[in-house]
Amino acid sequence: MKAETQPPTPPDCRQTRDRMQDYLDQTLPKRESLAVFLHVRECGECSAQLATLQSLYEWLDGLPPLEAPADFDARVLAAVPYAAYRAMAPLRSPRVPVLLEHESLPAWVRSRSVRSVGLFAAAAVLAAAATGHAGGAAAWTVAGIGCSPELSVRLQSLSRRIYVATVQRSIPR
Ligand SMILES: [Zn+2]
Repeated sequence: MKAETQPPTPPDCRQTRDRMQDYLDQTLPKRESLAVFLHVRECGECSAQLATLQSLYEWLDGLPPLEAPADFDARVLAAVPYAAYRAMAPLRSPRVPVLLEHESLPAWVRSRSVRSVGLFAAAAVLAAAATGHAGGAAAWTVAGIGCSPELSVRLQSLSRRIYVATVQRSIPR
């Protein structure tokens, strides 16, 4: 904290110092970057502060990279208090729908050949039904069986939506 005897920092200097980090990161819009550049050229104090920051950043950039231990994520998560975890629920909930992804279906359902065979059988039966070569109800039954891998994917997806909706409603706000 500054002593009260010191004169207050002029607005230009304050604004320049607020922008210094972005200026050094080169993330400032051109106009603001130019304003910092011009101010620093005229102002000794800000110029000194910029030089200090710059050498600090150079020193930080020069540090050797550190490899995080393998269990780093797990340890960080374990260190989060349960209350804080609960407080993050609104942030987490949009990500809940990953619960039952396509990848979690049994391998035989996922297999491309099973799905294409199912689709092919369904298409064939439906075509036969459309041209009147098979009984309507029987055709739809066979089509349903033929579609089953596809159907089960859709049903899984539907039940996932219902499950997620239920879970989200049960989370206390
Ligand atoms: Zn200044």
